[in-house]
Amino acid sequence: MGMGLFWAVALSAQTPTDLHLTLQSIANGEKQAHSGLENFAPTGAGANYDVKYHRFYWEVNPAIRYIKGSVTTYFKALENMDKMSFDLDNVLQIDSIKFRNRLVSYTQSPNKTLEVNLSSQIINGNLDSIHLFYQGIPPSTGFGAFITNRHNNVPILWTLSEPYGSRDWWPSKLDLNDKVDSIDVFVKVPAGNKVASNGILAAEYALDSAAKMVIWKHRYPITPYLVAIAVTNYVEFTEKIPLRGDTLNCLNYVYPEYLSTARQKSPEIIPIMQLFDSLFAPYPFKKEKYGHAQWGWGGGEEHQTMSFMANLDQSLVAHELAHQWFGDMVTCGNWQDIWLNEGFATYLTGLTYERLYNGVYWNAWKTATLNSVLSQTAGSVRVDDTTSVNRIFDSRLTYNKGAYVLHALRWKVGDSAFFAGVQNYLRDARLMHGYATTNDLKRHIEATSRQDLTRFFADWFYGQGYPTFNIGSCRSAFVANRIQIVVNQSTSHGSVPNYEIPIPVRLKSQTGRDTVLRLNMTGTYHSFLIDLPFRADSIWADPNLQLPAKYRLVSYFNGSPTDNLIGYCVGTDDVAHLLPVSVYPNPVDKSLTIDFQSNNYQKIKASVFNLTGSLVLQKDLTQVQGKVEWQIGTLPAGIYMLKLTDGNLSSTHKMIKL
Ligand SMILES: [Zn+2]
Repeated sequence: MGMGLFWAVALSAQTPTDLHLTLQSIANGEKQAHSGLENFAPTGAGANYDVKYHRFYWEVNPAIRYIKGSVTTYFKALENMDKMSFDLDNVLQIDSIKFRNRLVSYTQSPNKTLEVNLSSQIINGNLDSIHLFYQGIPPSTGFGAFITNRHNNVPILWTLSEPYGSRDWWPSKLDLNDKVDSIDVFVKVPAGNKVASNGILAAEYALDSAAKMVIWKHRYPITPYLVAIAVTNYVEFTEKIPLRGDTLNCLNYVYPEYLSTARQKSPEIIPIMQLFDSLFAPYPFKKEKYGHAQWGWGGGEEHQTMSFMANLDQSLVAHELAHQWFGDMVTCGNWQDIWLNEGFATYLTGLTYERLYNGVYWNAWKTATLNSVLSQTAGSVRVDDTTSVNRIFDSRLTYNKGAYVLHALRWKVGDSAFFAGVQNYLRDARLMHGYATTNDLKRHIEATSRQDLTRFFADWFYGQGYPTFNIGSCRSAFVANRIQIVVNQSTSHGSVPNYEIPIPVRLKSQTGRDTVLRLNMTGTYHSFLIDLPFRADSIWADPNLQLPAKYRLVSYFNGSPTDNLIGYCVGTDDVAHLLPVSVYPNPVDKSLTIDFQSNNYQKIKASVFNLTGSLVLQKDLTQVQGKVEWQIGTLPAGIYMLKLTDGNLSSTHKMIKL
């Protein structure tokens, strides 16, 4: 679903100076339809059967908010059963229910379930079917599941079922664990209308001078909330998209008054489809189509193979198209994990700015997305209240923070592990055309990166807020091109005491040489001693905007010679955490000088590790008076790490022993 904060990108302007990005609240006009609390509790309806197929037959008129029709459901019994239930709002009236050609009884409950007494038993594992006839005025919950409206004074009807709206207009299952294997959609409408829906248009014919029948067939598994129809006086045109030596049709159903704009904007989907098709997995519904149907809601909805769209603006086109992979082919398995739909769709929109249009919008997209994420100090990507539709679709947390956590994950594991892991996630036979949870994504990225990401997801997905990294730096007064960087972190929310993440820092010389370091934060405070191939003169925190974090460059040498400072601002937070020390000579033969720069300590532990991380030498230095000589002549020649610690303070040094 595309709503809330959105990018409007003027793609006619392809140069940075013409960069024109605005954030707009698309859904404002629809706010009254957004009832805040849905009080949704899963009913468990349909738990004893597996839906194989629905045949929908609906009679609708966009000028009249009313539905009359039938749903035929083919299903497999998951246990011996003589009852079955559906999620269906009880304001809809059941006309009759037929099972094995006999009328059967039923009850409708205030919790919006329909329980059917089959009057005979179905054996576990058997296939059967049921026909349900109903009509009524659909209620209006969530974003408005069944809406009539007007465009240019012409009536239009559309449906929008995500998350809990399918029961407002047809008997369905609201759980997120049973996709319908295929559907046929028959819609009878007044003459002069077209009907947009899922899959392939199988037939369209006049029933008489006043009515027509439209039939759509969809042969891919589909989650119930993505079944949709839209009805008005559409005009259609097809955008042909060259794809891997083949052609994919993008079918556009637009208002007559929008046709010329739509024709002008429509080709913009071509590079986006080609990009997404190549990034992770081929377009999932290639045997059928992709398409857009215009509607009156302020954003978009990724109805499978036919997104419903406010317009064909680039950002909305990219977002809803990305959902065909993330949300449609692989659907979040619970609403806590909706970021698997929305975080990815938002991030893939960002990737169009990274990979297309010469990259000129990429930095601006990252900046604006970060500004949204960091504008408040609390809130997790994981949805903590799934009864609130507004929380599920929170643009800052579910969309923007979700997208930026993916970007941070990519930074942490590297491009190849990230893209390969997401590919494997989409192509996992257990998830493809099914449902996934955050753990499935974690498992796949862990496999390609060979990293344990438990802490990453604890910090960034479950945890709230963001870190602030205070970074101080100083050139060594003793060793050329050596720099010490100290980092301490604070967090905006108590749910995460500290973040475990490598932070990117760029060091530059006056002669134009530069490097980006990964400073691996595993605790609140770290000191890094780094030998560079050049003399650093300036420092930037996170120059490429990799992390949803704030940074401050601070001075930590309180009162020390300022010519050793490179990059600072007012602030002395880090002074207490500093272990100012220099170790020389390097390389060292017999006697190592550990120079605490005139500071005195009760006790310092000095530990020497080899390159496999094994401790090879340790010494307690007591009553340190500024400077210590340590005889290490017995240590074999090689490269070592020397770690000096005093309580919370520490400093690590690379050391070459001759
Ligand atoms: Zn979306």
